Amino acid sequence: MTRLRRLRRSDRLRALVRETRLDLDDFILPLFVGPTTQPNADLPALGRHSVEDLVSEAEEVSRLGVRAVLLFGIPEEKDAEGSGAWDEDGVVQCALRELREAAPGLVLMTDVCLCEYTSHGHCGVLEGDEVDNDATVERLARTAVSHVEAGADAVCPSDMMDGRIRAVRAALDESGFEETPIVSYAAKYASAFYGPFRDAAESAPAFGDRRGYQMDPANVREALRECELDVREGADVLIVKPALPNLDVIRAVRERFDLPAGAYNVSGEYAMLKAASARGWLDERQAALESLTAVVRAGADLVVSYWTKELATWL
Ligand SMILES: [Zn+2]
Repeated sequence: MTRLRRLRRSDRLRALVRETRLDLDDFILPLFVGPTTQPNADLPALGRHSVEDLVSEAEEVSRLGVRAVLLFGIPEEKDAEGSGAWDEDGVVQCALRELREAAPGLVLMTDVCLCEYTSHGHCGVLEGDEVDNDATVERLARTAVSHVEAGADAVCPSDMMDGRIRAVRAALDESGFEETPIVSYAAKYASAFYGPFRDAAESAPAFGDRRGYQMDPANVREALRECELDVREGADVLIVKPALPNLDVIRAVRERFDLPAGAYNVSGEYAMLKAASARGWLDERQAALESLTAVVRAGADLVVSYWTKELATWL
């Protein structure tokens, strides 16, 4: 008789036949930088750091073994255009120059979008009540170049405008940054799971929502079309966001494309487990490890996660 329980009888046997393992090398820690430090007691990884505190946080996580961080900036002032995004003395640009010196081994990635910088909170410049695609794309390209000039190792456009990967690639190449990879949020859904992030980054839209540019969570074939376009336009990595509600999308992207595929385990996924564990309903560590294992098992080669710092001590 076939008895599958034979290989489940001990920790060692289970480890021998385990198909999926988490490796800290594959994880990216998001970090928020703003004019002042504002800790978040309930959701520590969503706290905001001043440039000075960010440097000590980056040094600490680097010592723990974290390999890569993804920076989000919250500027002192916002305007309709989001001009703080490409300011050479902007908060992310200043942070990059400091981090480059303080933590030379850390991979520095940056979110490229306008929503943290616009007074209305949309991911681009407006034409009436609509986000103007092509005017936005041009500003995103400038932002990406300014990040790389300040020391970014990779840029991550997250806006979901059409044609932005082509524009970012062209702008980087023209500026002599042919070697800098683009990590594209290729399939980013209009999701309810971004709530805690929007509070942390002060990026909730002042009116309307983002369904005019982010994807409908009901669609998977459309996600593959988004990926197809990004591959053609020059993306080096494809990211699916959020992760847990879209494990099937991660799997589909993994099967269709040979590029590295990633997933963003977003703030709502983190907050759900934090809240449940604070009430004693779930064990945070076990539930987080199971969630992240599922994301990797679905096909993600790299994962952006708010648990990356904890993972460094858990693994
Ligand atoms: Zn945005």
